[in-house]
Amino acid sequence: MSRVKQLDPRFVETMPDTIEPGILYVSLEYGSMIHGCACGCGGEVVLPLTPLDWSLRYDGETISVWPSVGNWSLPCRSHYIIDKGQIRWAGAWTDKQIAAGRALDLARKQSRAAPAMKPAQEADSAVSETTVRAAPPRSCFDGIRHRVARWFGRT
Ligand SMILES: [Zn+2]
Repeated sequence: MSRVKQLDPRFVETMPDTIEPGILYVSLEYGSMIHGCACGCGGEVVLPLTPLDWSLRYDGETISVWPSVGNWSLPCRSHYIIDKGQIRWAGAWTDKQIAAGRALDLARKQSRAAPAMKPAQEADSAVSETTVRAAPPRSCFDGIRHRVARWFGRT
């Protein structure tokens, strides 16, 4: 296992059969990114691009991804930030932290799922949301797996 130091962007329409290490595949068609886990374990990490999941910034050469990537569903439990294509390692999380992060993520998504409950003019909603988004690392949930399966033609 050798750690990947950086991820080079590759924009694709559909995801390739083989995920090369050191490449961050981006499919705007599917609104998703995929890369081999930066720890070198061979795990494939899928990051959905949605306002509630990950976002990317492309500067013409490199990609930055926010928030951090927490691979809690992989045995390695890698946690890192992709900053201008560079892998910046972040601390491992305990089971308790992971559970809390997942609960927060779920709560956020559920509250977003019922927008009718939200008053139209809520002055500081954008600010507080940004604060929440910056805090927890997002993780690759099992529910994402079927998306990968679709790309690779499995069921
Ligand atoms: Zn790994």
